[in-house]
Amino acid sequence: MSATTPQTRPAPPGSQKRPFLFSGIQPSGEIHIGNYCGAIRNWLRLMDEYDSIFCIVDYHAMTVEYDVATMPARVFDAALVNMAAGLDPERCTLFVQSQVPEHTELTWILNTLAPMGLLGRMTQFKEKSRRQELNVNVGLFDYPVLQAADILLYRAEAVPVGDDQVQHIEFTRDLARKFNLRFAELFPEPRALVPKSGARILGLDGEAKMSKSLGNYIGLMESREGIWQKLRPAVTDPARVRRSDPGNPFICNIYTIHQCFSSPEIQEQVVAGCQSAGIGCIDCKKMLFEEMMQVLDPIRARGEELRAAPERVRQALAAGAERCRDLARATMEEVRRLTGLRET
Ligand code: SF4
Repeated sequence: MSATTPQTRPAPPGSQKRPFLFSGIQPSGEIHIGNYCGAIRNWLRLMDEYDSIFCIVDYHAMTVEYDVATMPARVFDAALVNMAAGLDPERCTLFVQSQVPEHTELTWILNTLAPMGLLGRMTQFKEKSRRQELNVNVGLFDYPVLQAADILLYRAEAVPVGDDQVQHIEFTRDLARKFNLRFAELFPEPRALVPKSGARILGLDGEAKMSKSLGNYIGLMESREGIWQKLRPAVTDPARVRRSDPGNPFICNIYTIHQCFSSPEIQEQVVAGCQSAGIGCIDCKKMLFEEMMQVLDPIRARGEELRAAPERVRQALAAGAERCRDLARATMEEVRRLTGLRET
């Protein structure tokens, strides 16, 4: 970390100053077990190693059509569910992007360094713009530059992402390098932290990625009964037509979910029982349900507590925004000085 890196919150007594980690959270309270296993669980592990900043990215959410009336609730619910899932404001910083206007200021400056050709070739842009067809907005095109500004504003050194975001982090590294060469050394080049273990959890239909829009998900805050109703008919290895047919757990999405929630002993029992037809798929799902509930029951309970005391969520977001404004202001003072936007 550079000597000029801002740090306003004193490190806890006896602890070392840690590098910054930045991650964006889409404003949605409909967070599902795919999000938990693919991202949140990883964040919880990284929080001790890094000074972690989690940002609810409402500016990013504006690049697709949205309902203005529901946006405040979406932002609040995203904060609530992520806090319930373990983003403890005592251990990390959680804030809302639009509460720190420096994000858009730095975006403009980075825009002047960003090649249009490269932005046009971004996989996510191509996919999303194909869906929007005639209504492709500049914000959608510029999304990776805003994302780069989000990260560089805090001079973050680590960004936990899925495979589909690695291209955007490479782009951020490119912009950091360009700025440092053009003006002066200021930004570290952030690393993408891609979780190594675990296959990606599919939706309960066993086909597409788990997602709210496809309706094939299990929400983190769903009731026990609601979860069992969804899990019971979920797709398994299609070769197991009869209870006596042996199966292959390594192609079964239920086993992939076991790998996130179940103990190694249970996972071993599932592999052996499935391959020998010693257990049926319903037995296997019951085992998964019990293991999942050990993780999801406390999350749901914390969520209900926060729902009953919403001021705790608002206070966490206010404190997070205050800290981030201090950090962002310090970075932007350096940026303005180095780019000649004010007298030195
Ligand atoms: S026993 Fe479990 S792992 Fe095997 S096919 Fe059935 S649900 Fe999948």
